[in-house]
Amino acid sequence: MAVQIIQDFIPSGRRNRPGYKLTPKYITIHDTANTQAGADAKAHARYLKGSTAAAIPASWHFTVDDKVIYQHLPLDENGWHAGDGTNGTGNRQSIGIEICENRDGNRAQAEKNAAWLVAKLLREFNLGLDRVKQHYDWSGKNCPRVLRGRPGGWQGFLAAVEAHLKPATLPKIDRTIGIHVDGKTTAETGYLINNSTYVRAAYLIGLIGGKVTGHGDYIDIVLPAKPGQAELEELRKKLKTAESDIAALQAALNQESQRKENAKRLLKEAERALG
Ligand SMILES: [Zn+2]
Repeated sequence: MAVQIIQDFIPSGRRNRPGYKLTPKYITIHDTANTQAGADAKAHARYLKGSTAAAIPASWHFTVDDKVIYQHLPLDENGWHAGDGTNGTGNRQSIGIEICENRDGNRAQAEKNAAWLVAKLLREFNLGLDRVKQHYDWSGKNCPRVLRGRPGGWQGFLAAVEAHLKPATLPKIDRTIGIHVDGKTTAETGYLINNSTYVRAAYLIGLIGGKVTGHGDYIDIVLPAKPGQAELEELRKKLKTAESDIAALQAALNQESQRKENAKRLLKEAERALG
């Protein structure tokens, strides 16, 4: 899985963007403590750019909701989120992450997204799982309150982070197999694993004119349009046009034959009058 990260930085010069040099040694987890509907990552990005957050001053690096992640500060600048003072380890040596609690969001998914982000950051900065801290660890505040309040919540979160750090275990390939299409050998390779055949999805779907996108937890397969459906629709349109053309011609023809009849009658009357 990969979660979209949108960079929407607090403008330079604001009181909540102090700009002290940060070399991340820890990652600090928070819960937003805002259960209002709509209090998602985007709303917090807006909040951090506003005057209230600047006045406190309050800031952190990421807000994670169930769909997306907003980044509010560059990772080489500190934020004010840990409550341990101007020179506190939390404030000056940790990346701050807020997990959303908005009631119109999926909290479980937000936690999953946060676990993914933490694993990504640990890898990026070459840090161990022991460097993931609670806001509580720096200042004694009951935060992240949802993870702290749920039995096994914090341990479960760390386990989810760890799961992302472990390399995926792959099944043993028994042997490779050739792939023939319409009787012709291809350069593509398949695999025999536990008596099942595995072939690259993008290759197979591509053969029938579909498309495969995405990576990580799932792939997205777009099947080719059903054959003939577009053509059939086009023909139906043409038929309608032809039908109305025929009707117009028929009307014109009727008018013409009426005129002919009239002319004939006039001619006959004239002949009779002369005769
Ligand atoms: Zn906090």
